[in-house]
Amino acid sequence: MIERLCVIGVGLIGGSLARALREASYVSEVVGCSRSAEHLQQAVDLGVIDRYDTDPGKAVRGADMVFVSVPLGAMAAVFSAIKDELADFAVVTDGGSAKASVVEDVSKAVGRVPPWFVPGHPIAGTEQSGVAASFADLYKGRRIILTPTAETDAEAVSKVRAMWEATGASVNEMDVEHHDEVLAATSHLPHMLAFVLVESLARMSEQREIFEYAAGGFRDFTRIASSDPVMWRDICLANRDALLAMVEHFRNDLDELTAAIRDRDADRILQIFQDAKAARDAFAG
Ligand code: NAP
Repeated sequence: MIERLCVIGVGLIGGSLARALREASYVSEVVGCSRSAEHLQQAVDLGVIDRYDTDPGKAVRGADMVFVSVPLGAMAAVFSAIKDELADFAVVTDGGSAKASVVEDVSKAVGRVPPWFVPGHPIAGTEQSGVAASFADLYKGRRIILTPTAETDAEAVSKVRAMWEATGASVNEMDVEHHDEVLAATSHLPHMLAFVLVESLARMSEQREIFEYAAGGFRDFTRIASSDPVMWRDICLANRDALLAMVEHFRNDLDELTAAIRDRDADRILQIFQDAKAARDAFAG
């Protein structure tokens, strides 16, 4: 049970956590924080938070759990603003999509890797953003990855684990580097491909016609290109090394397919598509 939860960044991810914990009666009070009082008042009106403060240092006072869910580029400033204001008993966790950069940000702000910080990442989301898009069921049946470091306090990890389980999610632990490599492959690379495909087609002179004839497959494949550009810019920069390695890997495979098409190598093309279909069918069930 959480007495006072402070959510810094009451958007899709933070707002959905607050809603889920309220619905589970797992939290007594929720305090929100972000840059805009207007957004925070909207969160109060929607019943997502009880009250707010636009000053992160003031917002975290007395909170036993703090969840930071701002874009990755804004994490460092948040940690600097809250580090001296946290209660002795506070546990801080986050929902950022890359983990090494967040651990580095908190360590720089505090001067060491703090035991009270539990890095985390919910593997859930939509292409929508803002508190109005948040909903209580976002985490139900989904996975949460926690990436505690050697310095992280075990009791803090247990509290964060219990919080996520109260939302209906299941929790896995892995190390920071492994998380960033896995997510570069399964989430960050696909988002880059969707963004660049849509941007590339949109620049072609016959774009109106291209989009008019876009069918279901194109919509499915490009849905994630509607995601928030600021958030994804920050993810690219924060997980730069792992993402560049994945892009290189993908570029080689695309070159191979391109060569097979150029050489009219029907067998090779078919093999690539058959292997892909078998892999997709196996994981999608
Ligand atoms: P979002 O809906 O846009 O919410 C971001 C929140 O952060 C807003 O409340 C915004 O409010 C606040 N904010 C933005 N810049 C800020 C700053 N400089 N200082 C303080 N507050 C700031 O984004 P989201 O989708 O919830 O994403 C939040 C985090 O979750 C990101 O780190 C992202 O990587 C991660 N994540 C996202 C997904 C996803 O699918 N969306 C999935 C997993 C993890 P104001 O405009 O009022 O400041």
